Amino acid sequence: MTFDDAGSIHPDGEVAHDDGGTLTYVGPRRGPAGAGDLDVTGTIVMPGLVNAHAHSAMTSLRGVSDDLDLASWLREIRRAELRLTAEDLRWGLRLALVEMLRSGTTTFADMFLWDAGLLGDVAAAGMRVMAAPTVFGYESVGYPSADPRDGRATLDLTERLAADFAGDRHVRIAFGPHAPYTSPPEVLRDVAARAARRDLRVLIHVSETAPEVADSLALHGLTPVAHVERLGLLEVPTLVAHAVHATEDDIQILAAAGAAVAHNPVSNLKLGSGAAPVPAMLAAGVTVGLGTDSVASNNTLDMFEEVKTGTILQRGIHRAADVVASEAYLRMATAAGARAVGFPETGVLAPGRWADVVVVGTDSTRATPMRAPASFLGFAARGDDVRHVVVAGRLVVRDGVVTTLDEAEIRAQVGATARRLAGGPA
Ligand SMILES: [Zn+2]
Repeated sequence: MTFDDAGSIHPDGEVAHDDGGTLTYVGPRRGPAGAGDLDVTGTIVMPGLVNAHAHSAMTSLRGVSDDLDLASWLREIRRAELRLTAEDLRWGLRLALVEMLRSGTTTFADMFLWDAGLLGDVAAAGMRVMAAPTVFGYESVGYPSADPRDGRATLDLTERLAADFAGDRHVRIAFGPHAPYTSPPEVLRDVAARAARRDLRVLIHVSETAPEVADSLALHGLTPVAHVERLGLLEVPTLVAHAVHATEDDIQILAAAGAAVAHNPVSNLKLGSGAAPVPAMLAAGVTVGLGTDSVASNNTLDMFEEVKTGTILQRGIHRAADVVASEAYLRMATAAGARAVGFPETGVLAPGRWADVVVVGTDSTRATPMRAPASFLGFAARGDDVRHVVVAGRLVVRDGVVTTLDEAEIRAQVGATARRLAGGPA
């Protein structure tokens, strides 16, 4: 019944932690629950889920462009993004935090506009983030209505934030060059040098679509993966989002470099981009995490949906039910994802790991009968089945309600943003 590296999932289990938020006991129930204990009778206790690729603050753009391919989608979305104010982004992020917590995600990697205030919101909500401020070109201003900083200033900001949050248990900072087709070679070379100097990670979109690969071959004579390798980007710990069209050679390059991949099956399917060669990546030893991408290309942040979709997608493509084990995608959503996003202390329930715990209810028709908890989590569970969430030993979701944020106010604010973007009354 284990799907993580060292720990396991525990029906009717018991979890204890110390005051510092580190697990001290994980295993069978040792006795009746104490006065202050969470009652987990009839539940499954599992590690907090890790969303390895998101653009959280984009929640107000949910449903903006549902029927476009990536290139047309990006043009539409950029038009809307340019009008988002700093306040819009803050409420959008908060909506994502509620949605992620309620569906069991405790840690996420995110590329978007980030500043100290937004990072503080994540920590106050009780979540953990590897945040990568997006950079396009040196002179490009990513989000002019929300922040007039250009790419060069954003690179400097990234280094400052990394220094300010050094040692923080909720916030880690990475460089976020958007993609090889939007960030020119000199920017990518600069990012590699800065990341090496500061010992920071890099998050970048690579080989998401077939046209991207064809353009890269025409322009550089190299696939996008080989191109970023040539520029030094794989000499630092890099998390490559998508790699949908990674070739066999690309996969060997990623494996040799120790680069991780953030795999986003639902987003890749919705945009018609394709399906990443995940079995080949796993066979080559690449660390693969699982992500939702933004809700504008998904349209939810429910990691259980990614787990099931990813698994059955590979089986359909390969016409083989054994091409990925039923627990492989649960591992990507927990232990492997945690390593991919630079939070190796979480994603596993075991003494000494961080106390990021999700309690999943089983009092539903889709959980009946309960033959095997991993089968339920991999193929039947939904985010709505999550009952309680603990991060760093702190209860942040109790009985399906986020205790650290005001969901009703957040939904009203994001609704107003969407109406304003659509041209209606705020
Ligand atoms: Zn993305």
